[in-house]
Amino acid sequence: MIQSPLLPHTAGYIAGRWTGAQSGKTLAVINPATGEKLADVPSMGAAETTQAVEAAAGAFADPPAIELRRAWLKAIGARMLEHKRELGRIITLEQGKPLAEGVTEAEYAAGFFAYFADQLHHLEAQVLPQMIRNCRWTVHHRPAGVAATITPWNFPLAMMAKKIAPALGAGCTIVTKPASQTPLSAIAFWTIAEAVGVPAGRMNLIIGSAGPVSDVLCSHPAVRIISFTGSTEVGSILMNKAAPHIKRLALELGGNAPFLVFDDASIDAAADGLLANKFRAAGQTCVCTNRVYVQQSIAATFTDAVAERVRKLKVGNGLEEGIHLGPLIDRDGWDKVHAHVTDAIERGARRIVGDDPPRPRPRSDWGAFYSPTVLANVTPDMRVCREETFGPVVAISTFTDEADAVRQANSTQYGLAAYLYTADRARAERVTAQLQFGHVGVNTGTGPTSEAPFGGFKQSGFGREGGIEGLLEFCEPQAVAMG
Ligand code: ADP
Repeated sequence: MIQSPLLPHTAGYIAGRWTGAQSGKTLAVINPATGEKLADVPSMGAAETTQAVEAAAGAFADPPAIELRRAWLKAIGARMLEHKRELGRIITLEQGKPLAEGVTEAEYAAGFFAYFADQLHHLEAQVLPQMIRNCRWTVHHRPAGVAATITPWNFPLAMMAKKIAPALGAGCTIVTKPASQTPLSAIAFWTIAEAVGVPAGRMNLIIGSAGPVSDVLCSHPAVRIISFTGSTEVGSILMNKAAPHIKRLALELGGNAPFLVFDDASIDAAADGLLANKFRAAGQTCVCTNRVYVQQSIAATFTDAVAERVRKLKVGNGLEEGIHLGPLIDRDGWDKVHAHVTDAIERGARRIVGDDPPRPRPRSDWGAFYSPTVLANVTPDMRVCREETFGPVVAISTFTDEADAVRQANSTQYGLAAYLYTADRARAERVTAQLQFGHVGVNTGTGPTSEAPFGGFKQSGFGREGGIEGLLEFCEPQAVAMG
């Protein structure tokens, strides 16, 4: 079982109290690398969620000044940095990613608190310069109300931080549901928030089964906004559930990121950028490259450069030294990746790197290590091109010219992240303007940052996280005409 100074409790948090499930039911949290049980956490349902929403609605009636909200954000961010190693260790234990990535995630998550603490002046009332219809007009940014957040397991701390920091900064009160596989990062975060002195009811944590919890979050009249990160399928379910109640939604959904390499690009820089991007969290992020398109004349050279690098990657328990990739989150994840690779090979792809079989199929929901794989001769009919693989597979296709590159990159219902490598700045600008993706990396594989808005086009969702846009997501603008 896990021991941590940040986990004195392994429970939910409602109205300022650590709380178990009324039913007494628990969920086991499993280390995906070893199968060790880390903790039993409460499995809460509709009754506890209703209590949490009511606590949040009660706290909303007592609005704190901007200065106080700024102080909370700064203090939470600072304490997260103080505890980044322990937060990183908890992330690695429950999620599986290498420890260095866990610590980086803690720093990234803390960055959202520091950033939004410095942006709250954007919420101050603005008086319009001109009198209109004999009135003085003022625009306020009121907090939207109770904000519900639902987050996935691939960045158990950061995905939550992106939502909680702006929601708390805007003056919303919060009910959070983390993924059932990774609730310990959320609990550790709550320990920090409690120590900072955020008042009872302002931040509530529910751990439990998604259906009943989200039924309440989508229908309770006090919840005004639901901010969700996860699959497009679940995003659609939430839209349907929330539709009769006209709730605001911010949805960060699946991706199918293309990575374009033009013939004038530096092959080494592109291969390094691809590796850094593709293998983060063992390929289980929504901004990880899913499809690589290389200009025909350099396809063989680029594929060799990538293969050489991928052969050196070490897979194992993320707590061990020198590990580049941990396990996939569970056997379902492993099965999906393997089905994609098998489908590609049956349809004519060539496996350049990767064991066959990659390892014996994991016996249960742990130990789902998948060998890093490189596939060449990938074509658009293959599942690796059409769907998000969410695993350590580099799928390489080719393109003929700029128009073909743009056409293939955009040939998906998703529109979250895209990357391109070229030495020609004019081409980079032309291509970027045509890419239907919310985040574009030019000569870099870097993902989002707290300072810039991040979100999807098309079926990757709507709403933005980070940047001023991410703060305004949790506000209702109110125009006041003073006669
Ligand atoms: P992933 O494929 O990343 O696990 P999911 O969309 O399945 O993405 O899960 C993301 C979050 O959504 C998790 O917190 C999960 O518990 C929650 N979730 C899963 N199914 C539902 C559902 N039917 N309604 C509401 N939330 C759900």
